[in-house]
Amino acid sequence: MNLCDYNEIKKLLADFDFRFSKSLGQNFIINPNVCPQMAELSGIDEESGVIEIGPGIGVLTAELAKRAKKVVSIELDSRLIPLLGITLAEYENVEIINADVLRTDLHALIKEKFDGMKVYVCANLPYYITSPVIMALLESRISVESITVMVQKEAAQRMCAGVGSRESGAVTVAVNYYAEAQKLFDVSAGSFMPAPKVDSCVMKLTIRNSPPVSVSDEAFFFRTVRAAFGQRRKTASNSISAGLGIPKETVIKAIESCGFAPGIRAEALSMDELAKLSDAIANNL
Ligand code: SAM
Repeated sequence: MNLCDYNEIKKLLADFDFRFSKSLGQNFIINPNVCPQMAELSGIDEESGVIEIGPGIGVLTAELAKRAKKVVSIELDSRLIPLLGITLAEYENVEIINADVLRTDLHALIKEKFDGMKVYVCANLPYYITSPVIMALLESRISVESITVMVQKEAAQRMCAGVGSRESGAVTVAVNYYAEAQKLFDVSAGSFMPAPKVDSCVMKLTIRNSPPVSVSDEAFFFRTVRAAFGQRRKTASNSISAGLGIPKETVIKAIESCGFAPGIRAEALSMDELAKLSDAIANNL
């Protein structure tokens, strides 16, 4: 079955009386070039295990199944499960789990399904939960090699921006702490059925063996970063003071002890500088 053929998909969906759910971020890929390219660039091979989030009707799943040893796809919409049974019938190495990815214990899943394999995440994410999913994957420190995902173009730009650049934000720092982020290719709205209002981008997060900076208190580092970027038009001192609820003088003292200008903004600080600043603030409390 050609899962990128508009008419075939329409018939399949009609057979199952399926209506797209906007609230579940259901936009299915119909551009035949996208999924093979995504699967190819994700780095998987015949020894790999793959976790897919949101298989939809299985267009990316099939490309992953052709290249990997085993694919486990997590789909929340139970209406899609019987349909996937048909579209993926020829692939014996695919397992579909009907669950919410944000409520799935991925440590346990990896142990149970992929014992001894190198594991990769590859998915065309539902956009309403892009950041929570990516942060959950990174923060849980599940044992995966990389995360290759399609996200909204603006989200990819923010996550793949250099820390210390104008486009950077708290999510840029968080992503860069755990992974090396790389934009792979853009995908136009017309590549989906139905077409979303936004353009998309495939990006790859290659998981680091260790963070690029060392901080004395990781949780405090992330709280400081979130506070620093919390009010984009304000100086780092104002934002951090408001966000952490500590006196501005304390923050300025820490900023100056690091050798930074008192009026510096968060987006001008590199990863090293943000780490130095959070440690200095912690020491001044
Ligand atoms: N992979 C398919 C493709 O590329 O055509 C479909 C991608 S579509 C953008 C997102 C998919 O994620 C939908 O199938 C949707 O039902 C599913 N989904 C939405 N929320 C989810 C969640 N919390 N956990 C797992 N799957 C979810």
